[in-house]
Amino acid sequence: MSKKYWGIITSTRGSMTDEIISDLEKRDEEFSGIRPQKMASFLGQEKIKDNLKIALHAAAKRKEPVEHLLFYGPPGLGKTTLASIIANEMAVNIKVTSGPAIERPGDLAAILTNLKEFDVLFIDEIHRLNRIIEEVLYPAMEDFGLDLVIGKGPSARSIRIDLPKFTLIGATTRAGLLTSPLRDRFGMICRLEFYKASELEQIIIRAAEVLKIEVSKEGSHEIAKRARGTPRIANRMLRRARDFAQIRAEGKITKEVAHAALDKLGIDDLGLDDIDRRILNTIIKKFNGGPVGLGTLAASISEEPDTIEDVYEPYLLQLGFLERTPRGRSATLKAYEHLDIRRPSKAQMGLF
Ligand code: ADP
Repeated sequence: MSKKYWGIITSTRGSMTDEIISDLEKRDEEFSGIRPQKMASFLGQEKIKDNLKIALHAAAKRKEPVEHLLFYGPPGLGKTTLASIIANEMAVNIKVTSGPAIERPGDLAAILTNLKEFDVLFIDEIHRLNRIIEEVLYPAMEDFGLDLVIGKGPSARSIRIDLPKFTLIGATTRAGLLTSPLRDRFGMICRLEFYKASELEQIIIRAAEVLKIEVSKEGSHEIAKRARGTPRIANRMLRRARDFAQIRAEGKITKEVAHAALDKLGIDDLGLDDIDRRILNTIIKKFNGGPVGLGTLAASISEEPDTIEDVYEPYLLQLGFLERTPRGRSATLKAYEHLDIRRPSKAQMGLF
């Protein structure tokens, strides 16, 4: 995999340090073998897996490529992993790129013409594809054709090149930002859900086996509870707990070791970190509980609005700590309770 793609794939996620960390993490996942290679080792997301198994089976029977697929959901839930599993199960190659990495129609044309029959083309952050490039993609997805304009001015003419039949897998954290012509060209649209703690526990146990980390059942439960329903975060916490266990304990991650390691990282019982708490505290203390617009909130805590929307907000919404209204974000009573702050009465807030 070319470095260029990794760099660009991670370029929209969080701060510069986050980028470097997630870049290293991605490579770590790649080389340590914790990224599942087969459907059987991809745990959870049962509904999606069932539908995919049927689609893969049917495509193999018809001797056709799998339909174009769109995966959407917050980062770290397994979109890239699923795409590579599909290529693996179909015994075809996968080419990985991302929306912002494709700068010119020629970049996409070069990628498409280099595909082999039935190959998978994975485009991460597909919502960030530029519109002109999107238009190159439409005939490629629909008829496996590429329209090229040769020459300039009055002598310009358009020719069509046949492409090999391929499967496009798009991934996005924001299905809502996809244009409808693009969305309509996918045969299946799959929304990945946050994982249950019990599923994350199994993912942690599997990753610990691969990485040869000793972890007790209670230790994996403790990490799973705080991993925000996200396998990438669970794996990251597992590695941090391993470091802690090696330095401060006998090397084994027990419940106590996991607890101490995650506390030290500022991750609370529900998996909230400093930034989550800053978001909630800012809404509550600076903006009287909200509503406050995303841009204003982001500026107040020096974060990118995209990072808040993609990375932090989905989990806070899922916990019921945040409400999203047309007028902005508000903190709920549950958020006040979690942070141990008394919510002022409506009279105190001057609403009566
Ligand atoms: P996304 O593309 O949605 O951001 P990834 O596919 O890169 O997420 O997943 C991040 C990491 O989490 C992977 O390397 C993999 O190790 C782990 N992972 C994700 N989903 C699963 C799963 N269902 N079972 C086991 N591990 C998973």
